[in-house]
Amino acid sequence: MNNRVSISKKVKSLWLVTGVLYGALSASFSYASTVNMTIQAESYSDMSGISTEITTDTGGGSNVTGTSVGDWVIYPQVTLPCTGSYTLNYRVASTVTGSTLTLSNATTGSTYDSFTVPNTGGGQTWQTVTRTVSSLPVGGMKFKISVPTMGGWKLNYFKITNQCSTTNTARDTVSAMGKGFNLGNMFDKNSNTTFAQTKAKIDAYYAKGFRNVRVPITWTETIDGSLLADPNTGVVNTGNTRLGIIKQTVDYALSLSGMYVVINAHHEVGLKDNNRDWVLERLWLDIATIFSARNNHLLFEILNEPHLSSGAEMPAESLRNMTKKAYNKIRTVSLSRVVIIGGNQWFKDFEVPNVWTNLDGIGSGNDAYIAATFHHYSPWSFCGNDQGDFTDAWTYKDQYTPMDVMNNWANTVGNGMPVYIGEWGVAWASRYTVMNCNSIRKWYTSMHVTHAVPRNQATAVWDDGGWFKIWNGSAWDNNLIDCIGGSCGWSSSNQLDGCY
Ligand code: CA
Repeated sequence: MNNRVSISKKVKSLWLVTGVLYGALSASFSYASTVNMTIQAESYSDMSGISTEITTDTGGGSNVTGTSVGDWVIYPQVTLPCTGSYTLNYRVASTVTGSTLTLSNATTGSTYDSFTVPNTGGGQTWQTVTRTVSSLPVGGMKFKISVPTMGGWKLNYFKITNQCSTTNTARDTVSAMGKGFNLGNMFDKNSNTTFAQTKAKIDAYYAKGFRNVRVPITWTETIDGSLLADPNTGVVNTGNTRLGIIKQTVDYALSLSGMYVVINAHHEVGLKDNNRDWVLERLWLDIATIFSARNNHLLFEILNEPHLSSGAEMPAESLRNMTKKAYNKIRTVSLSRVVIIGGNQWFKDFEVPNVWTNLDGIGSGNDAYIAATFHHYSPWSFCGNDQGDFTDAWTYKDQYTPMDVMNNWANTVGNGMPVYIGEWGVAWASRYTVMNCNSIRKWYTSMHVTHAVPRNQATAVWDDGGWFKIWNGSAWDNNLIDCIGGSCGWSSSNQLDGCY
């Protein structure tokens, strides 16, 4: 009982655990597949009966002491990335024989481990007891340590380690997504799209080796009388006809072997203009619930291109706030649904580092099921709105620089987060009759194969059936589809031929 210090500051305790957790996981850089967290015994958020004292064990700090039958200690919540067998290392000291320690879940009461602490021969003679706990559950966990039958032990810290055999993390998922396409303007601008139309487009791209489809969906704006969700509350109208076709489309795509589907909240102008965070929050709770039974090949992109109707960027703090709220609602439904975050205006590459200077509130770097996205229409002088000629002398650097900007963020702040290019393409509608511009072909040929693949970024070409048309509804009426695959015919070797 000498050297007793009082530690009752919950804030400090929380900080201690969080700091250790984040440090361990980011240092290992394995993005939560490896768990290696140390919880200091004295960093509890609540306790009954125990006290603390300065420890002389290696590393210093304090240890829990004064343990009697019925005493307990509860720790702040940590997140376990998988259900499975974990190794527990308890750092203990005891001068008595037969004292007991139990590890349990403070919320549910489930007991995970219970053992007799060895007599170490001294009150500051420290020994590590290694135990295997057969099944700890994935998700949030508040550990409780208690004294079931006999006290007298001291505890300096306990370590939890595991090589989680998690599969289908965001990185696994994005690696498998390869090249993909958008069902552009089918559910974000129109209400008369049929399942026959979406199925035909999906089948056509699938046959060409495309393995992800992004489905832009506008929920909170009326489209031809169809409103998927209340713009003031975010509550989804589950009886909506368009939603039925969307579900049919999603389920069909998911039925194809190796196919991935991304759904999002797309235009949502009023939501963005008025910063309706509660609407996005409720919207994603409802979407997550509606699609909860779908497998992990379905991904959720929280909010497309969050600019205001003026074109101005959404304030970064507003986007972070509403993204966190939506993310946390999704996580109440599924801990392993891949969630996609992005920037705050047009989804340009540099917006992500500007907005997401840290991952506080979205897993703090411990959630292996988050991906980042951006849109690649850079340089806009070449890719943008159907300018008539396509003589901008872009170079490969224009294509790979935004990818590198994203990867630099993903490998630092993003803690290894994978990157998905959710839109890219060239608005070439003025060339519908004769598409003979080599530069456009070159853009499509090199974007995915030459630059995105070596950078481990999955892509989805923007195909809206209009300015960015590739599939015309019943056929490929140009050879851009083969360009995306890395090979298509040019009329000559000169990049700018046919582009004036
Ligand atoms: Ca300690």
